[in-house]
Amino acid sequence: MDEKTIFELSRPGTPEIQMPEHDVPEMILDEVIPEKFIAPLPPPMPEVSELDVIRHFTRLSNKNFNVDANFYPLGSCTMKYNPRVGEWASRLHGFAGLHPYAGYENSQGALKLMEELSEDLCEITGMDGFTLQPAAGAHGELTALLITRAWFKDKGEDRDIILVPDTSHGTNPASAAMAGFNIRQVKSDGYGNIDIGDLKSKLDDKVACLMLTNPSTLGLFETGIEKVESLVHKAGGLLYYDGANLNALMGKSRPGDMGFDLVHLNLHKTFATPHGGGGPGSGPVGALGPLVDYLPGDELVDEDGLTVMKPRTRSIGRVRSFYGNFGVLVKAYVYIRGLGAEGLVRASECAVLSANYLATRLKEAFDLPFKRRCMHEFVLSASRQKKLGVSAMDIAKRILDFGFHAPTVYFPLIVPEALMIEPTETENKQTMDAFCEALLAIAREVEENPEIVKSAPHNTPVSRVDEAGAARKLMLCGI
Ligand SMILES: *Cc1c(COP(=O)(O)O)cnc(C)c1O
Repeated sequence: MDEKTIFELSRPGTPEIQMPEHDVPEMILDEVIPEKFIAPLPPPMPEVSELDVIRHFTRLSNKNFNVDANFYPLGSCTMKYNPRVGEWASRLHGFAGLHPYAGYENSQGALKLMEELSEDLCEITGMDGFTLQPAAGAHGELTALLITRAWFKDKGEDRDIILVPDTSHGTNPASAAMAGFNIRQVKSDGYGNIDIGDLKSKLDDKVACLMLTNPSTLGLFETGIEKVESLVHKAGGLLYYDGANLNALMGKSRPGDMGFDLVHLNLHKTFATPHGGGGPGSGPVGALGPLVDYLPGDELVDEDGLTVMKPRTRSIGRVRSFYGNFGVLVKAYVYIRGLGAEGLVRASECAVLSANYLATRLKEAFDLPFKRRCMHEFVLSASRQKKLGVSAMDIAKRILDFGFHAPTVYFPLIVPEALMIEPTETENKQTMDAFCEALLAIAREVEENPEIVKSAPHNTPVSRVDEAGAARKLMLCGI
């Protein structure tokens, strides 16, 4: 590859940007930083002009596949368009320039926003209280599981098992293990729901919690939820709702009403913060009834028009510095208030309609393992194509040649050759039709000329990469 790093572009002596002298008095430096930590020389910086910098990073950013440029139907990831107004609001100086130690009297606007956002999230999910601290979905899961642990410890019950369905997102069992629990997997039935018989056989007085995603990662609504809820609660366990993808349900159905005790949401999926580049995200956790007292951080309450912070008596403690990723909270607030109650309902309806439209068009050419109406996403199987020697991975690579991002592949694990597609509510019919035409064309290629699919992609800057090698031998700079 001929792309140079910014260091390779360096031309020593480029007389462009003058860095200001540092303004921390030497005396203070000496007092605060021990001598051995002070570098003898400044770090080596590339010497480039402002224009060099702009061109370099703009060129690199254009190599990225992104929602602003193309359709990105990556299932379970909700790669929708995020309104720019959220960026504007989160950069307002009063928010972006606010110091976290400013004190509550000087931070009323920000605290009010967090108080109202918590209330909105309670209304949307049917929970009684929220913490906005967790910085991602998996972080929210961990937080909720630490609450679960503290809850049973206080009750004097020794429960060390977390149940996770075989369709669960990989972060669920990982978070449970991190929180010190053991994991029992629960099977799905032929309809795509939790297998009630299997659930019964896994429930006992050791089970602390069932973690459930509803709609599941198959994109299907758990129609047996009331039965599941009564079984788990009868066995003395809690119900945890993985609400990373709430865009099928907003304003339609609430985890609190389904009987869930704890919930996490991904503000950076459903509530309009761009993601995919590794953050910042936000995974608020909601709790019901007495569990609210265990949430991290203070409760924000209105007292005579001022937002004040009230410590929670049984809080498990801080899980993130200060107030969480505040900029993401601003974007979520703007999204919710911008759409309003009716708009959120409409967003969910469009997400579900789009997914059903794609599923209906594509099931002619690919297997649809669960023949039900889907929610915001659906899972196809390429097992028909696999019999002709072409895998889901080959098809995903070939889609890139048509200018689309690939769907999620090989997940959930219970569907062979899975292609998991989530169009989101923000794509129009023309784009979805073009995507269908591409996938249908690929299905024809598999029958007529499979080699072109197996050797794809052909039009991308790089063709097939050694994915295991890339993950195991990290090389982050150019050679
Ligand atoms: C994305 C996702 C998560 C994890 O969220 P992160 O912010 O990536 O940690 C958990 N569960 C489901 C169902 C998800 O789609």
